[in-house]
Amino acid sequence: MPLSPDQQAEIDDLRSTPRETLRATAPGMEQHLYKAIPVLDHGFVRVIDYMGDDSAICQAARVSYGRGTKSVQNDEGLIRYLMRHWHSTPFEMCEVKLHVKLPVFVARQWIRHRTANVNEYSARYSILDREFYIPEPEALAAQSVVNNQGRGEALQGEEADRVLRYLRDDAMRAYDHYEEMIGQDGQQGLARELARMNLPANIYTQWYWKVDLHNLLHFLRLRADAHAQYEIRVYADAICNVVADWVPFAYKAFADYRMGGATLSSSALDCVRRMLKGETVTQETSGMSKGEWREFMGVLESDPS
Ligand SMILES: Cc1cc2nc3c(=O)[nH]c(=O)nc-3n(C[C@H](O)[C@H](O)[C@H](O)COP(=O)(O)OP(=O)(O)OC[C@H]3O[C@@H](n4cnc5c(N)ncnc54)[C@H](O)[C@@H]3O)c2cc1C
Repeated sequence: MPLSPDQQAEIDDLRSTPRETLRATAPGMEQHLYKAIPVLDHGFVRVIDYMGDDSAICQAARVSYGRGTKSVQNDEGLIRYLMRHWHSTPFEMCEVKLHVKLPVFVARQWIRHRTANVNEYSARYSILDREFYIPEPEALAAQSVVNNQGRGEALQGEEADRVLRYLRDDAMRAYDHYEEMIGQDGQQGLARELARMNLPANIYTQWYWKVDLHNLLHFLRLRADAHAQYEIRVYADAICNVVADWVPFAYKAFADYRMGGATLSSSALDCVRRMLKGETVTQETSGMSKGEWREFMGVLESDPS
């Protein structure tokens, strides 16, 4: 179960007592506030607090004009302009604070994003729960043969069964020893800060993660991408849905220019221009390496529909 009964009671309590505010609120985000979105087998993402909306981005960009001087349609146009021209600071005017429950090996990737504020569950102070990420059979994939940093087909048959058994058994055994080591029945009990070191990286941790919209979009660009590991991508996908409800114009512009767009080098642009003039350009005549050409062709040929 992703949420403990205490956490669920806290959410129910918070959602049952709305407060009045003079601050700008985003209706889409109010729907998400406090609720947990399940991710993986025991994880979740939930919005604890947020500041700003699409208008806050425009307000900051215009500074001297003030809100209400432009139509909503112009707000969207302005946001698209800001996104297109990499004007980042107006997007920093919006912030979000998330409560995330995630496996430790996912947290290690996540924490590389240094532009957020983090407060993590203390396994020195508290006892970790017996909760481990065990992949669904379809996510239990073989090493990719084409990409050292990726996975291929799902494992099958006896091998899949054995791997799942190892993952479960190793986790349970490690947790049994953890419990035994910290236990105080007839022994001193090892300090929690030491006992945790035998726990595997698929154990769950939790943190509060606060970030501004500009850096959140950067995180999502990298982690909701097909190159990101599945286990962090599902968290990024869940957050994408939240952001789409929170700042719909900004998210639409982000999806268009960043997620769906591509950056071309000057050699690649030169090839596009030559192709448009009717020239048959090959890798050999492109001035690009084989890898660059493959990626360039991938951009030209990929069909998002
Ligand atoms: C698919 C994928 C594979 C990866 N593989 C590996 C890997 O094999 N090994 C590995 O170690 N990491 C790996 N990473 C992590 C990656 O290198 C980055 O550390 C991570 O994505 C965080 O990106 P960031 O630094 O841009 O983000 P943030 O830390 O949020 O920073 C955002 C931006 O702020 C600026 N910034 C922040 N801090 C500084 C600073 N101290 N100095 C200068 N500028 C700063 C930079 O412009 C940066 O882009 C991988 C990431 C992805 C998405």
